[in-house]
Amino acid sequence: YPIQKIAVVGSGSWGTALARIAALNAAEKKGFHHEVRMWVREREIPGQGRLTEVINSTHENHRYLPEVPLPHNLVAVSGLTEVVKNATLIVLVVPHQFLIPVLDELSKPGVLTPGARAISAIKGVEVAGDEIYTFPWLIEKKLGIPCSALGGANIAMEVAQSEFCETTIGVPSPDDAALWHAVFDSPMFRVHPIEDVAGVSLSGALKNVVALAAGFVDGMGYGGNTKAAILRIGLLEMAAFTKEFFPASSSLTFSHHSAGVADLITTSFGGRNRKCAEAFIKTGKSFAQLENELLKGQKLQGVVTAEEIYKFLQARRRTDGYPLFTKVYKISFESMDAKRLFDDL
Ligand code: NAD
Ligand code: 13P
Repeated sequence: YPIQKIAVVGSGSWGTALARIAALNAAEKKGFHHEVRMWVREREIPGQGRLTEVINSTHENHRYLPEVPLPHNLVAVSGLTEVVKNATLIVLVVPHQFLIPVLDELSKPGVLTPGARAISAIKGVEVAGDEIYTFPWLIEKKLGIPCSALGGANIAMEVAQSEFCETTIGVPSPDDAALWHAVFDSPMFRVHPIEDVAGVSLSGALKNVVALAAGFVDGMGYGGNTKAAILRIGLLEMAAFTKEFFPASSSLTFSHHSAGVADLITTSFGGRNRKCAEAFIKTGKSFAQLENELLKGQKLQGVVTAEEIYKFLQARRRTDGYPLFTKVYKISFESMDAKRLFDDL
């Protein structure tokens, strides 16, 4: 392969954690341009200057990944077109509700380098009426470049602190597998390539809905048996949904890979969706308020996804096939009593 240049579009907790690994690998492995650029939405930090300058001088992303030293070859850049200039490997990792304007800018003529590839580490889906799209599909369509998916049991701060974990990459070709494996694989972050791009991407989106149900269980004060039952039922709904609407995907992605069952478990115990869902039951506050109060600028994905999936199922007249997904929506948006989560499961 020619020398590869990596750009990371997104600098929240997961964006920064993935950029850190990519920069460490780019500095160490042959075949990569030394500098890795990371897109940061510019803003003024009171008394400190611009956020990009603060990150580049302190080598830390204080807001989204505090107290994690970042490699010096990781450079924060505020212009999107400048971040991807000459990049051949583009990692997309913004919260899913913010991706479309990013793709609009990247799809302008002359912005991307011919032959570039992308990978989506975003957990979410795009719904339009009775149609549903995975982000790798949408990225391929809008940018005209191949797109892989990365997902697994990967709470950002644990990955950033080099605690051992695994991730799954769904890849469209062996070349994509080799390149993305080289970008991210390291002794404490093991990367397993599989062919199921849609399955990896969907699993990351759907497990966030089940994680909300797990948080409701915690909020109601039930124990491990109840949570395990909800996770089992949720995993089956995730697999059934994928089989029904993305029949080319493999059910093994859910049962065998980090992107499936392992991600569901970690998110349902240590993730932000679980945390806010527990507080939603205990405090009666809205999810918007809890996101502000508890997440310090980080973004909840599961609540938006629960609504998107519900609207899609409604458009297809299939809500009755997915009672857990449907109840998560109704508890979150229609004031349904959380105890009704267990009805008809
Ligand atoms: P985050 O929730 O930590 O941070 C929010 C980011 O969104 C910040 O970079 C902020 O600048 C940006 N942002 C806020 N408003 C914006 C706007 N209007 N337009 C564009 N950007 C805006 O982000 P994250 O955790 O890196 O999440 C990115 C994706 O990675 C999500 O889909 C998430 O599900 C996935 N993911 C997260 C984790 C994790 O542990 N944090 C792990 C695996 C996957
Ligand atoms: P939360 O967004 O619920 O924190 O989940 C993070 C995640 O996707 C872990 O793999």
